[in-house]
Amino acid sequence: MIIAIDGPAGSGKSTIARMLAKRLGFKYLDTGAMYRALTWKALQHGVDLKDANALCQLMDQTAIELRSTGDGLQICIDGANVTEKIRLPSVTNNVHFISNTPSVRQRMVKLQRTLASEGNIIAEGRDMGTVVFPHAEKKFFLDAEIEERARRRHGEMNLPENEISYTDVIKDIEIRDKRDTTRDNSPLRKSEDAIYLNTTKMLVEEVISRILKELESVIKK
Ligand code: C5P
Repeated sequence: MIIAIDGPAGSGKSTIARMLAKRLGFKYLDTGAMYRALTWKALQHGVDLKDANALCQLMDQTAIELRSTGDGLQICIDGANVTEKIRLPSVTNNVHFISNTPSVRQRMVKLQRTLASEGNIIAEGRDMGTVVFPHAEKKFFLDAEIEERARRRHGEMNLPENEISYTDVIKDIEIRDKRDTTRDNSPLRKSEDAIYLNTTKMLVEEVISRILKELESVIKK
């Protein structure tokens, strides 16, 4: 069974997907982490991010793994744990080169479908319901007002050395939203059959309860 969750940055989809997967005993497929992992490797190896052939070659020589841990997911690239490194601003600011390269996306989609064939899965990203898993049993599109999304992201960046202001986070999210929704390849959009949830004023637990209620019809007790 596949449950697809899409939405923009800061909409709560990663937190919700991770918690749902744990609660239901499903695997959690964080597809954003896969694009981030390849971006991290490309930056490490000095690969030209505008060179589609070089990016494909890199992808073909790379093993991306998502390993379930007790309370989350460990992202490994060629066996090395990069879970924290892929959240660095340098990766966030450059991931769009990778995610807007059609030949790389094709490879990612193939890998995502292979990973999903291994069992029940909560698949989270931008194009889960529209492109990668159009036949998912249930689809959700999570959204929230940009101010709330920026507030959440800013809160997550609670590091002493971190000097990014709330205003800068809003600007970053605006840029990412624009890139993700207007790109030619698999842009972020709600699938027609996805359930839309605006989580601005919802607690995490409320979102989870609402989704679990929607899933009652497809998940056998
Ligand atoms: O979800 P996350 O913010 O980690 O995703 C990072 C980036 O990866 C997104 O901004 C988007 O450009 C790309 N992405 C994508 N398709 C997905 C998941 C993520 O293009 N299914």
